[in-house]
Amino acid sequence: MAAGGPSRSERKAAERVRRLREEQQRERLRQVSRILRKAAAERSAEEGRLLAESEDLVTELQGRSRRREGLKRRQEEVCDDPEELRRKVRELAGAVRNAKYLVVYTGAGISTAASIPDYRGPNGVWTLLQKGRSVSAADLSEAEPTLTHMSIARLHEQKLVQHVVSQNCDGLHLRSGLPQTAISELHGNMYIEVCTACTPNREYVRVFDVTERTALHRHQTGRACHKCGAQLRDTIVHFGERGTLGQPLNWEAATEAASKADTILCLGSSLKVLKKYPRLWCMTKPPSRRPKLYIVNLQWTPKDDWAALKLHGKCDDVMQLLMDELGLEIPPYSRWQDPIFSLATPLRAGEEGTHSRKSLCRSREEPPPGERAAPLSSAPVLGGWFGRGCTKRTKRKKVT
Ligand SMILES: [Zn+2]
Repeated sequence: MAAGGPSRSERKAAERVRRLREEQQRERLRQVSRILRKAAAERSAEEGRLLAESEDLVTELQGRSRRREGLKRRQEEVCDDPEELRRKVRELAGAVRNAKYLVVYTGAGISTAASIPDYRGPNGVWTLLQKGRSVSAADLSEAEPTLTHMSIARLHEQKLVQHVVSQNCDGLHLRSGLPQTAISELHGNMYIEVCTACTPNREYVRVFDVTERTALHRHQTGRACHKCGAQLRDTIVHFGERGTLGQPLNWEAATEAASKADTILCLGSSLKVLKKYPRLWCMTKPPSRRPKLYIVNLQWTPKDDWAALKLHGKCDDVMQLLMDELGLEIPPYSRWQDPIFSLATPLRAGEEGTHSRKSLCRSREEPPPGERAAPLSSAPVLGGWFGRGCTKRTKRKKVT
């Protein structure tokens, strides 16, 4: 035969041998895997011999199994036993008392008690909407600030918490009475639409979900600015988007807070998204000068190894214990004092048909004795902490 490469039949034969070898290898892998699943005592002498001859395969399979187990454990929700949780909360209370600058990072886990599904997660509201599935608007408008939201607002009022950075779009921090200056809603707020043609951007707080017609890279809400007539846009930052709006994202305040923080308390967040924002973790500082981390989450988080303390518990349970430990009462949420009603810009005549979402409303019942309702679209007159920080904001967004 001519000099050069192998003939066609030689190549075919070589290919057959290669395939046969691969098939044998796969069969061996299946056998070894089957034997490894048996308890050692139940393995026959023949099976024991096969394992001894397949050391590499055994090592590889055991490695795979360990990695699988590790991933499974990360998904599992773990609860500390009550005594352990109380001990950890006492330690957390000490950290809260001693912190010079405490920033709270919150995620979907603090809103689940408000029956709000994670906004961006696989079964989140927004994901469902994007897949064309409907979400009951009632689900969202019925949601109210949880015990955790109210506790955070109280801690801020007591100057024990300086700033709150949230991944949630549900607007519940604002509705708990926390002043807007103290919140960075990194992924937006479903009740806020803005005019970016106006300088500074003009903000419209609404009492309904403004995101009904919006989606990834499509943010126009279908309403127009009362001042300049430009189209309004929602404030939601979707996966794959970069949040550039000043408010309600408030990145400037978030990064300033992170740089000043000596203590960070993470509540109900997997931190998988937040960890991608290095500025929130002071990663440019040497580890010894970074803020102390306290994490409350049922599942594993990528920051667990950095945490001074990890508490496995539901946020509401932990916050109840924490507030008891600190001797602070948790104010109950009241729709009559919900700042959203005083911050909101009412729709103008002709705009009523621009949305079909159920609007938030104050209770149909009369306000309880001693509680006054905040007036609609005027500077809040509420006493106590609900009015704080709101007056300035209301002035800024006032429509002329
Ligand atoms: Zn405008």
